Amino acid sequence: MTNIEWTDLTDNIIRAKDGGWWCQKISPGCANCYSEKLNQNTFFGGNKLPYSGQPPELVLDTEIIRKWGFQKKTKKHFVASMTDVFGEWVPRYWQHEMLDGMFVAPKQTFQILTKRPLIMLSSVEAWLDSHGLDKLPENIWVGTSIENRHTLQQRSPILAQIPAHVRFWSAEPLLEDLGDISLFLKDIHWIICGGESGPNSRPCHLEWLQSIVQQCHSDKIPVFVKQVGANAYFQQQQFKTRDKKGGDITEFIQQLQVQKFPCLPIH
Ligand code: SF4
Repeated sequence: MTNIEWTDLTDNIIRAKDGGWWCQKISPGCANCYSEKLNQNTFFGGNKLPYSGQPPELVLDTEIIRKWGFQKKTKKHFVASMTDVFGEWVPRYWQHEMLDGMFVAPKQTFQILTKRPLIMLSSVEAWLDSHGLDKLPENIWVGTSIENRHTLQQRSPILAQIPAHVRFWSAEPLLEDLGDISLFLKDIHWIICGGESGPNSRPCHLEWLQSIVQQCHSDKIPVFVKQVGANAYFQQQQFKTRDKKGGDITEFIQQLQVQKFPCLPIH
């Protein structure tokens, strides 16, 4: 189970051998990493390691992967939500074992999100080659995190090269106005956006989210506003919500009350 609104469940296939998780911070979106915070807490199974330095010994949970093919009820799986499965420290054959498991589970939808789309691109291309395929199957969605203009320009064009039916952005935590995104949208099939939640949340102006939603509507791209965050502003005033992460859609301004998914098939 998960409280992430755009998925049905999270499958953490990579864990630290002695408990907890690990990842390597890479960009401003990682500053208040939820996974690292959870990992600091042994009560929740964490190992107290920071998400920097050298990784501990990690394991791939092949049992989770094996079970995907036997699951009857169709679900959306956010895979490896506690780390980046395309991190430099993750062996490529683990990424390929994951893709193999997804390939033989066509009833399930898999959402893979990375901050390292270049590694995702080369790994996916190698996997497609080894299977004689020219595109990922429809049930494997690939996404990258976009938190500011720099990561928009850096990551989206690389994501666009990954042969997939669904390429998506997670623009959360959104840390600044992305401006005109129309050039990038032509290669993207779905956008998730939202402000930051949790302690020390950085501000998110609802106008930034409005701009994304408007441009997605103009380009007919499904958009999912996940949350306004815990430190939201609207028209230069603090925008207070009862829900502490600003995740109750009924509290959003009307234009942001949109939570759409991609319609398949997309060709
Ligand atoms: S990539 Fe994700 S899981 Fe890894 S440190 Fe950054 S925010 Fe945390």
